[in-house]
Amino acid sequence: MSLNILVVGAGICGPAFATLLQRSNPKHRITILERFESLRISGQQVDLKTQAPHILGKMGLMERIKAHCVNETGLEMVDSMDKQVSYFPAAAAGERRPGLTSEHEIMRGDMVQVLYDASVEQNAFLKPQLGSHGGILYKFGQTITALDQNLDGVDVTFSNGERQGFDLVVAADGQGSRTRRLAFGEDISDAAFKSLGIHGAYFSIPRAEGEGSLARGHLAPGRRMIMTRTSDRPVTGVLLFAMEQSGRLRASYKGSQEAQKKAFLETFKDVEWQTDRLIEGLRSSEDFYAHELGQIKMSQLSTGRVVLLGDAGYCPSPFTGLGTNLCLMGAYILAGELARQGGDVKRALQSYEDAMRPFIDECQRFSTGSLGLFFPSSRIGVWSLGKLLWAVSKVNGLFPQSQKDDTHDGCIPEYPELNLKILFWFILTWQLEE
Ligand SMILES: Cc1cc2nc3c(=O)[nH]c(=O)nc-3n(C[C@H](O)[C@H](O)[C@H](O)COP(=O)(O)OP(=O)(O)OC[C@H]3O[C@@H](n4cnc5c(N)ncnc54)[C@H](O)[C@@H]3O)c2cc1C
Repeated sequence: MSLNILVVGAGICGPAFATLLQRSNPKHRITILERFESLRISGQQVDLKTQAPHILGKMGLMERIKAHCVNETGLEMVDSMDKQVSYFPAAAAGERRPGLTSEHEIMRGDMVQVLYDASVEQNAFLKPQLGSHGGILYKFGQTITALDQNLDGVDVTFSNGERQGFDLVVAADGQGSRTRRLAFGEDISDAAFKSLGIHGAYFSIPRAEGEGSLARGHLAPGRRMIMTRTSDRPVTGVLLFAMEQSGRLRASYKGSQEAQKKAFLETFKDVEWQTDRLIEGLRSSEDFYAHELGQIKMSQLSTGRVVLLGDAGYCPSPFTGLGTNLCLMGAYILAGELARQGGDVKRALQSYEDAMRPFIDECQRFSTGSLGLFFPSSRIGVWSLGKLLWAVSKVNGLFPQSQKDDTHDGCIPEYPELNLKILFWFILTWQLEE
């Protein structure tokens, strides 16, 4: 049975889900709504580890993704004199080792673009056979303003005033999901956000001469951390993190982007590492993005015929480096269960929830209590943490393969109903003929 589905959000998991589901039944009608006028391709690096490379491999996209991966060779922590304190090499995709860099690192924008392109190409290939019977349709510059659930579907009101009925609404609109708030209510939605007490700002600055392929990290007293990531790109990505008590950063999110920049500037103006470069870069950056880091913990992933996907339902926080992995797993499992259960949407949503729970719990397992240890307030605290990281890096170097984990592929459920292998060959043939 074909379904009429609305996906809210054309980030990472929205296009991935649509592409996967369309392979199971090209007659599904899938509308993807994005509130921005075009794809939102900003953001810094995202890690593709644990299950993510396997899902992308199943979709036939891993080679394309690899072509866009940045070449970051590891992470070095430096002191205020720019001297290396510790060094962690990049970890292979299946390895679990301390460090920031994994084998497959890609700019968020490139990832969004690859997934979007794949969905558009697949749709263009299938469309002539379908006529008006199905397909993927993107609508940019629009959002939803109301959801009315009934027994068989959801009536959706769009920001342009139009109304339309759908069999299923998929909330893929990120951590602050408006769809989640409309479907579950403000109170449940607000309570689902578990703050880590850390604020992060991300922006790009011009690459400096001599800057190599290592990510660089600096701990500053006053519970602040700075990272720069250049890899093989012409610009350097900057990440600022602060564990603040004053509430200045949190309050700034209610204001303009200029107000947010000002709050981060005030917080970081006296760090003793690359100060002028970072402050000037922050002031003039054009891709600045800031938020409070947290996890989304929902006791249910669906209500009626509205289901949460990706960060909207189970953001594990950027500190785990597992957000993209988890959202791709979600897209794959939701599409797989809908394909397996045919037209029985309710059953599919329950199976999706059951299958996702262990992965969500695993990715969100995170000791928030110990997070403070990584944000020392005093100089002596920074020095001690530097020594500890040095010791960990040395032990890490002695056992390079110590915790190799090859189980990620094996734990991914198989869904023959998604026709991944069959359609992949069609697409490959079609591309070769082009
Ligand atoms: C601008 C931006 C920058 C990011 N930068 C980083 C980064 O540097 N490092 C990192 O690890 N993670 C970053 N993330 C988060 C990362 O993309 C996610 O953690 C993860 O990949 C899960 O993706 P997702 O598809 O669930 O959500 P997202 O990637 O957040 O995508 C959500 C999409 O929904 C759209 N949207 C939001 N609200 C609405 C609405 N009401 N109606 C319609 N559309 C809506 C957004 O514009 C976006 O395109 C960023 C996210 C965004 C949006």
